[in-house]
Amino acid sequence: MEEHSENQQNQALRNRKVAPWLLMMDLDGALWDHLDISTVSPPYHRLGSGKIGDNNGTVITVFPEALEFIRWCRENGAITSTLSWNYKEYAMEALEKLGIMDLFDYHETEFSPAKDQRLLQLLAELRAKGLAIPPERVAYVDDRDIHMDDIRRNVGNIVFLHIWKEVRNYQEARNIIRARIIGE
Ligand SMILES: [Mg+2]
Repeated sequence: MEEHSENQQNQALRNRKVAPWLLMMDLDGALWDHLDISTVSPPYHRLGSGKIGDNNGTVITVFPEALEFIRWCRENGAITSTLSWNYKEYAMEALEKLGIMDLFDYHETEFSPAKDQRLLQLLAELRAKGLAIPPERVAYVDDRDIHMDDIRRNVGNIVFLHIWKEVRNYQEARNIIRARIIGE
């Protein structure tokens, strides 16, 4: 019941208050603490809320503030996607086991550094569905800035949130999005 009304509220926000925008999320070091989930072998098992592990004793812990941030973005009109350089099946199984698959509308996760191309692909896919999102309405969170030259050159002037570095935490990320995208 509660979920239903929350969905309705989100729908209302998406429909009238905020023009569509896109949140792209890196995973390693941005959504969870592990820096390379492609080196961690599934099957993973749940170790508690926001924590999974593999059979070799490796533990992956989600940053709770990252989850809250993504939920907040969705409540404020964001279409959400992963944008990660990882084996897709490893990342998907981790999201599944963590129970947070529903945070994302799309997944642009592949074992390739060409994040600019995957972002272009998603923008084209959305455009084909009638959702034209300009680069200025794309926010991208990553703990590394190594993809930004390609993205600026080939996609344009997106809102890059270099998390834990120029952007110290997810509260600061919200403030930047409020100022540059939501316009409050
Ligand atoms: Mg990363």
